[in-house]
Amino acid sequence: MLTNTDLLALDGKPGDFTVKVRQRPRYIDADACTACGLCTQYCPKHHLDPYNEGLSLTRPIHIDYAQAVPATYYIDPSSCLYLQHETCQICVPVCQSHAINFEQQPEELELNVGAVILSPGFGKISEETLKKFSYGKHPDIVTSVEFERMTTASGPFLGEVKCFSDGRHPGRIAFIQCVGSRDLGCDNGYCSSVCCMYAIKEAMVAREHDPEVEITIFYMDIRTQGKEFDKARQRAESIGIRFVRAKVGDITPWRNQLQLTYSTFAGTHEFEPFDMVVLSVGLESPRDASGISDITGIELNKYNFAKSDTFNPLTTNREGVVVAGAFQGPKDIPESVTQASAAAGLAAGLLKKQRGQGIVHKDYPQEKSDTDEPRIGVFVCHCGINISSVVDVHKVENSVENMEGVVYHTDSL
Ligand code: SF4
Ligand code: SF4
Repeated sequence: MLTNTDLLALDGKPGDFTVKVRQRPRYIDADACTACGLCTQYCPKHHLDPYNEGLSLTRPIHIDYAQAVPATYYIDPSSCLYLQHETCQICVPVCQSHAINFEQQPEELELNVGAVILSPGFGKISEETLKKFSYGKHPDIVTSVEFERMTTASGPFLGEVKCFSDGRHPGRIAFIQCVGSRDLGCDNGYCSSVCCMYAIKEAMVAREHDPEVEITIFYMDIRTQGKEFDKARQRAESIGIRFVRAKVGDITPWRNQLQLTYSTFAGTHEFEPFDMVVLSVGLESPRDASGISDITGIELNKYNFAKSDTFNPLTTNREGVVVAGAFQGPKDIPESVTQASAAAGLAAGLLKKQRGQGIVHKDYPQEKSDTDEPRIGVFVCHCGINISSVVDVHKVENSVENMEGVVYHTDSL
């Protein structure tokens, strides 16, 4: 697996491609790093954490999140004091595994592959589009991605929804749909297909965290496309989440709130105050879509997503190069996973002549015999309030202490 790697060139034909890539240095030996996190604690430099949408701080030497693959720390060269100013290096003696290596250089590699799957994900809606919704003018106007990080139990606020302006819990939250989607003003004439469902999910999670909060979703159409997806909308309505078919024209700071001006489907003009406004941002093509197209020779459609055929949605104009996920067009996680399976199937077809070759046999540790004493570890997850509001997690954890074979127990996020 090559991460932190850029595609430089692609030559050849199906079944026999040569791919040139450049791997950027992590400045940490991935095999030696145990992901203990000690280096991060000692690193003196801080910067905004892009993984948390700038809602928290991180340090140049870090891992984006605990489940990242590979589970290895890396150093951000744009922020590291040594890589910018040749000073510091505090992390080097701290690391007991001697994993930090500032001598690492970018490495160019040539790989021989039979097929190529392009799956670079999606890009963000531009700042210009967000500014039309007053984003940046008031701290309590947030994007749905920021709101997602806020409501996530493992996020910077541990799931607590707070107004950025003064830290109070918002009493009234408005979601505005189709921000950067179905909008010719920003050349995005397409539906991003995921925003209605994620807005409903985020609204319900916010409601779980604070049953008193009043939530209104302003929409053009609710497009809960997908098998039984509309039941989520019905469930949201049944717990009091309000859906208003309207076009929001303006968001203005008013006292310590935000005043929404909107026109309804019935042709009336309304004004309504909210404590927080969430912009349900759509999905754009990946930022480097044109570069990928130049290198691979695949065509893009008018919205800069990979051009593919309606009845062969994964194949591109270049034989042997297939596409999967949001680069083929906006889609949710289950659909992306489905496409990934299909893309793997197509690629496997191109590799059929090579099947059974180049197999690497791994040596695994000897299995314990069934006469050995079992050693059981119990890890109880409370998942913010998602589980801990229903189950007494500490009691569950303590209850296993004297169970046969249990040698370790803990509870965690
Ligand atoms: S680089 Fe060293 S100190 Fe940092 S997480 Fe890896 S092993 Fe731990
Ligand atoms: S050398 Fe860079 S990564 Fe290491 S502690 Fe200093 S600032 Fe942090």
